[in-house]
Amino acid sequence: MEGRKDSKRARALGLVLWVGFVLIFVPGAEGWSKEGHVFTCRIAQSLLKPDAAHVVKHLLPEYANGDLSSLCTWPDQIRHWYKYRWTSSLHFIDTPDNECSFDYARDCHDQHGQENMCVAGAIQNFTSQLLHYKEGTSDRRYNLTEALLFLSHFMGDIHQPMHCAFTSDEGGNTIELRWFRHKSNLHHVWDREIILTAAKDYYEKDMDLLLEDIEGNFTDGVWSDDTSSWRDCKDILSCPIKYATESIKIACKWGYKGVENGATLADDYFNSRMPIVMKRIAQGGVRLAMILNHVFSDDQEGFVSPT
Ligand SMILES: [Zn+2]
Repeated sequence: MEGRKDSKRARALGLVLWVGFVLIFVPGAEGWSKEGHVFTCRIAQSLLKPDAAHVVKHLLPEYANGDLSSLCTWPDQIRHWYKYRWTSSLHFIDTPDNECSFDYARDCHDQHGQENMCVAGAIQNFTSQLLHYKEGTSDRRYNLTEALLFLSHFMGDIHQPMHCAFTSDEGGNTIELRWFRHKSNLHHVWDREIILTAAKDYYEKDMDLLLEDIEGNFTDGVWSDDTSSWRDCKDILSCPIKYATESIKIACKWGYKGVENGATLADDYFNSRMPIVMKRIAQGGVRLAMILNHVFSDDQEGFVSPT
C-alpha cells in the first residue's frame, strides 16, 4: 500500500514539476498568438512571386515541409533561451504613456538603452541581412534561415497594436480585466482573445474558414482597393516606422479607449475591434510578402532600395 501511495505521490510531484516547467518556459502574452502569426505567414506565403517562393522554401529547414507558417512562432519559443535572450526586446516597442506617437530615436531601444533593439529596428536589421542573399554578399555570421523566421514573426508583432503601446502598463499586460466571463488582460485580448472569440462565434472554431474570410476581404472585398497602399514602401528603413506608428495610433484609439483595470469587455468591444484585428493581420501578411518579394526576386513595386 505504502509503495503505491509513494508512486502516486511521485507521479503527482512529477505532474507539478511538469506544469511548473511549462509555466516557466511557455511564454505568455507575446505577440499575436500562434493563430495570428500563422495567419500572417500563410497570407504572405500565398502572395509570393515564384522566385521568392523558391528561396523561402530553400531557406526553410526540411521538417517545415515548405510551410513558412509552421515556424512563424519560433522566435517566441526561443526568446528565453540563453543564446537568444538578446532577442526578447525585439518583439515590441514601449512608447511614452499617453503620447500616442512613435519616435524611432526616442523609443527604439531595449531597457538598457541599447539603440535599434525594438521590433521596428529588428525588421530593418533582418531585412538588410536577407538583401545580401540576392546580392550574393551574405556574411557568414548571418544565419539566413533565422533571419527569415525573425522577419516573418516580427512583421506580425509590429502589426499587433498593443505591441507598440505604453511603457508603464507593458503594452496592456498589467491591465487586468475580464473578457466576457474569464480573466484576461488587455494585451492578451488583442493577441488572442478577439481571434478565438471570432473563430468560436462565426466559424465553428475552423481557423481555415476564418483565414479564408480575411483573404477574401483583401482579394475581392472591403479592402481590395487598399492593398496597393498597404504595400507602398519607398524606403525599406522607414516602412517599419510607418507600421509601428499605425499600431500605437490604433492602440490609443481602440485598444486603451474606455478600458480600465478591472473592466469587463464583452460584445461592444469585441464587435468594434474584431474588424481591426483582422485588418492588421491582413496588412502584416501583405507587407511581409512585399518585403520577401523584394529581397528575393526582382519585384520593385512601390519600393526603392536603400543605398
Ligand atoms: Zn513576438
